[in-house]
Amino acid sequence: MAMSIPASQAPSPSDDHAAASSGSVIDHIVEANARYAGEFADPELSARPAKKVTVVTCMDARLNLPEALGLEVGDLHTLRNAGGVITDDVIRSLTISQRALGTRSVVVIHHTGCGMQTLTEDFRQELADEVGQRPAWAVESFKDVDVDVRQSVQRLRTSPFLLHTDDIRGFVFDVTTGLLREVDPQN
Ligand SMILES: [Zn+2]
Repeated sequence: MAMSIPASQAPSPSDDHAAASSGSVIDHIVEANARYAGEFADPELSARPAKKVTVVTCMDARLNLPEALGLEVGDLHTLRNAGGVITDDVIRSLTISQRALGTRSVVVIHHTGCGMQTLTEDFRQELADEVGQRPAWAVESFKDVDVDVRQSVQRLRTSPFLLHTDDIRGFVFDVTTGLLREVDPQN
């Protein structure tokens, strides 16, 4: 049975399982998009980000991009994954972002209270035990958010594929205050 959600009411975290299994969240998304498109005027934006910046960050639901950075749609590329970690796929996207779409600066943002701090690489073994197959990817969990931001910036600066590595900075976003704190790359 489909459950309808009023447009004004965002799903709460406790709704996640029920909503996902009923498909009602996706029904809501489809309906909301029809309304959005009804009022949509083509802003004639370029695919090349106007501010020439790429943000690499966590998929965390509490980080509102691009608003939290004072940017707008069309200004930036946004690469998100669990933790905002520098995987091969992030390098792939950044390489395309810089070489094909003209971006130059990279902002790496981790955040307080990240779920990746509650996991360890044991997660990978537990997964293998459960499904009988070891995932090809590393979990990329971390304990110290500052250490991981520093390591992420370093991974980018030493990548042979990127065109521009001179303006890469790392931050931690505080999900309770909305404030970014810069991580000193030198420790
Ligand atoms: Zn996170």
